[in-house]
Amino acid sequence: MTRQFFVGGNFKMNPATREAKRALVEVLNQAPLDPNTEVVIAPPSLYLIPILDLLRKDVKVAAQNCHSKTSGAFTGEVSPAQLVDAGIPYVILGHSERRTLFGETSAIVAEKTRAALDAGLRVILCAGETLAEREAGRTQQVVEEQLQAVVGRLSPEDWSRIVIAYEPVWAIGTGKVATAGQAQEVHAATRKYLTSAVSPAVAESTRVIYGGSVTASNCKELSIQPDVDGFLVGGASLETRIRGHRECKG
Ligand code: PGA
Repeated sequence: MTRQFFVGGNFKMNPATREAKRALVEVLNQAPLDPNTEVVIAPPSLYLIPILDLLRKDVKVAAQNCHSKTSGAFTGEVSPAQLVDAGIPYVILGHSERRTLFGETSAIVAEKTRAALDAGLRVILCAGETLAEREAGRTQQVVEEQLQAVVGRLSPEDWSRIVIAYEPVWAIGTGKVATAGQAQEVHAATRKYLTSAVSPAVAESTRVIYGGSVTASNCKELSIQPDVDGFLVGGASLETRIRGHRECKG
């Protein structure tokens, strides 16, 4: 089974102006993209709808977060149903910044994942260890614990709408990218985990992408690893130089 290569751009709370965002969309609209790669960008929620309108139709849009309820008294939140109503197909959930800065536990991430899938969204589900956890030899345990909470809430069919993003916390925004070997090791172990926790078919078909200081210069070596099915790119996704993301594909 071939898994479609996936490249996501997580803008986080960037850039600061509408003008800069328009420039980014313009760059993407002109970029020579590989039709065999799924490309998704995640701007701040305020800009989802205008970007959807401006963006070429072969690039998809993701929210960076959502609530688990459909509607109600949740000041400042956006619901999965509202995202679907706005025509947004994807949501990023469980990003380490949400986990550490906003107190999202794996149980909350699982709750949100269930709600997002129920509403009809696809989910980019992030998991990854801190430096202390890696140094303590707990990388795989941490990744599996984070995934386990979600595994318990999903049916085998749900997995066709999940992309797992392995994002070691120590690599996010630090310029310290995981080596191709480190990434491959975790991705392969995660696939093995899915084999036993869900099914061999789900393990084989679910895309496991890597995130953490991915750039045009380091993505090639990562992308040729057999279990690296793409990237979630933060800082480098804000670059306004035109690049074919073919550069990223082995
Ligand atoms: P980075 O962020 O590429 O800037 O390290 C990745 C992410 O947080 O998804």
